[in-house]
Amino acid sequence: MAENLSSLEVGDPPVHLLGYSVAGEESVVGVPELDVMFDIGKAPRQLLSLNHVCLTHGHMDHAAGLAYYFWQRDFQDNPGGRVLLPRELHAPVERMLRDWAAVEGHLAPFELLPMQSGDRYEVRRDLFIQAFDVPHGRQVPALGYLVYEVRRKLRPELAGLTGPEIVALKNKGAEVTFATEVPLVAYLGDSQVFDLTTVPLLADARVLMAECTFVDADHVSRARAGCHVHVTDLPRLLATTRAQAVVLTHLTRRSGMLTARRALKKTLAPADLARVHLLMDRKHKSEDPQPASGDE
Ligand SMILES: [Zn+2]
Ligand SMILES: [Zn+2]
Repeated sequence: MAENLSSLEVGDPPVHLLGYSVAGEESVVGVPELDVMFDIGKAPRQLLSLNHVCLTHGHMDHAAGLAYYFWQRDFQDNPGGRVLLPRELHAPVERMLRDWAAVEGHLAPFELLPMQSGDRYEVRRDLFIQAFDVPHGRQVPALGYLVYEVRRKLRPELAGLTGPEIVALKNKGAEVTFATEVPLVAYLGDSQVFDLTTVPLLADARVLMAECTFVDADHVSRARAGCHVHVTDLPRLLATTRAQAVVLTHLTRRSGMLTARRALKKTLAPADLARVHLLMDRKHKSEDPQPASGDE
């Protein structure tokens, strides 16, 4: 389990991310102020109290902690956790949780919400999660998620009126405000690069989390084989997002953080480099590449 989550504050107003993400090992990012985590990794203790899990796909490094999440919530007498997941995974995940209950000898309550592209889920009255398809290989149903806020604003044609005049209009039954959607945080999970402007609101998310699994020049074929992003793909992605901050996840253990930083500097335009962050870029982390067997 990731004992030591990476903590990052990005965007203005700032969004606080708490997570751990290494390809083929574990990926989970929590946003405590939104009560949401993206993927669940091995269900790190610090994120168990978040009530919404947005599972992108079924690969073990993203999904392993599901049964533990519900079991631990039950154990801590803190029911109510919900997992949003691709609808193709609904039946197998439910079977898995029930089988696990047979192993454990006790069924922890669980709630699974099957999602497909275009579905939206209401976290609370003014906060929504929208799902969209992401490309991660034909065999792998995969969704990305966007969290957005709905704010009510005064209709522009009423801007010149005084407070009492607006109240009077409202009392007569006039609609004095309109709803506007403010995209906050988007998470692509494992996904090849695609045009973010094809998904409503996505290009305007204040914070975008996207994978960058490979950074070494000779790892392009690995990226293609696993339907992952290579650092040289990033300019195409960045051209389709107006995000203030782009947080990169899922870097392989095959490459060290120093290599990743150098590759970003070499590949990205200065304006993009200034808004790109590596989730796991912690000064105290080892710079040494370590052997790995796969990059799920
Ligand atoms: Zn994957
Ligand atoms: Zn993965």
